[in-house]
Amino acid sequence: MKKAVAVLEPYIKAEQIASGTSAEAQRKPRLVLATVKGDVHDIGKNIVGVVLGCNGYDVIDLGVMVPAEKILRTAREVGASVIGLSGLITPSLDEMAHVAKEMAREGWQIPLLIGGATTSKAHTALKIAPHYGPSVVHVIDASRAVGVVGSLLSDNLREKFDDDNRAQQAALRTQFEGRVGRKPLLPLLEARRRHLAIDWKAEDIARPAFTGRRVVADMSIRELAGWIDWTPFFRTWELAGHYPEILSDPVVGETARKLHEEALGLLDELAGMGAGGPVRARGVYGFWPANSVGDDIEVYADESRGQVVATLHTLRQQMDRGESGAARGATNLALADFIAPKDSGLIDYVGAFAVTAGIGVKEMADRFKADHDDYNAILVEAIADRLAEAFAERLHKQARDDFGYGAGEALGPAEIVAEKYRGIRPAPGYPACPDHTEKGTLFALLGAEEGAGMGLTESFAMTPASSVSGWYFAHPEARYFGLGKIGRDQLADYARRKGWTLDEAERWLSPNLE
Ligand code: SAH
Repeated sequence: MKKAVAVLEPYIKAEQIASGTSAEAQRKPRLVLATVKGDVHDIGKNIVGVVLGCNGYDVIDLGVMVPAEKILRTAREVGASVIGLSGLITPSLDEMAHVAKEMAREGWQIPLLIGGATTSKAHTALKIAPHYGPSVVHVIDASRAVGVVGSLLSDNLREKFDDDNRAQQAALRTQFEGRVGRKPLLPLLEARRRHLAIDWKAEDIARPAFTGRRVVADMSIRELAGWIDWTPFFRTWELAGHYPEILSDPVVGETARKLHEEALGLLDELAGMGAGGPVRARGVYGFWPANSVGDDIEVYADESRGQVVATLHTLRQQMDRGESGAARGATNLALADFIAPKDSGLIDYVGAFAVTAGIGVKEMADRFKADHDDYNAILVEAIADRLAEAFAERLHKQARDDFGYGAGEALGPAEIVAEKYRGIRPAPGYPACPDHTEKGTLFALLGAEEGAGMGLTESFAMTPASSVSGWYFAHPEARYFGLGKIGRDQLADYARRKGWTLDEAERWLSPNLE
């Protein structure tokens, strides 16, 4: 469609001039889209942009990491009718609220759309809409965007749509404020008393084959292709269902098959012939001696433990599971529980990794865009995301082999996708460790910048966009969990351990505060 429009555009313009219609009268409504400052992810936004572009709107897409002032300046310059913001990671939620406040301060009247992975109807209602009087609408996916924008810009539909949206947001706020029956959180000291008390035995500690860091300089794209988990790929394109069943689904099967075939074709191209193709994957990983000290994990240069090279700060669950829960052995977990305490007399180990499959992706996507081929531009980004996840999975296999317990695994592809192996790879920003700033510690320990060309934005989003990082915990009892809400006592304690002011702690941990 985009390519066709690009061919037709000069003819349309010529006809407008010939018939004397003013360009202004013919002008399509303009929308400014941007991924907010500090965030790099844009697949969802790009899909929204293409869908709107094919439905009669003039989309000005500012790309990623766009500061508020640039969004508003552009919107002013082009006479935008709507602004749309996107973000993937939790710190972006604050940045979106900031844009809304700026729009209010400058007296804007146009609607503001909110979308992206961590956004929600509730967050939009509670944290963004209150800052900006005109319409603030959460858009769940690209397929809804056309209807929402159409309603917001229609003289007939606008009022009812806006009334309904406001009523829904007011209801969400009332619901939130009126929450009853919530158990108070445990005091931090009590939560610590209920930590997971592992019976530390030397034989449960996995000793890696090497310590320190290793660079994986050029991971084969072709090998990674075999480790791809395809289900999330279809979700990116808003096709619901599990791979491989989705390929024979009566409703979306045909589209899914075509998409999959095209992805495999492009993957082949990315992998290149022999010497490697236009997209490259690089990573770093390593293992270090480590012990827990309270809720922190000390990482040592070597087994003498004389030099602390990094300190990981972990957060502890404070939900109260009640006396019966405690009696049944319900615990209040922190990742530190999975590493042997310093006073246990045992030397434990922690692993770390950071991988990217995003090298060369932007250049390739830009080439497609220049050719009005937005579909392939998005496809290459979506595939690179899959390759980064595949790289994390492949490297985790390597890490389990290095730890020594990988050899005994007998897992099929479905079990690998379900991560049915010993050990976990928690990623900062995810539920067990929601503090994104810990990626700073991770990247410094790994030398991720110099070793793999990876970086972090001011919101701790990883660059290039298609990147994955995390820690390896090897103990058989290590498992994923959700931190949940934390109390003011832990907030203050954590701020002290991180060397933050309370304000800084509130900012970074806001999604986990009550
Ligand atoms: N295979 C999927 C991605 C897996 S997402 C894909 O290809 O897209 C699962 C990953 O998220 C885990 O490996 C871990 O790194 C992270 N994760 C999941 N739950 C977590 C939790 N509770 N805390 C921390 N990290 C978590």
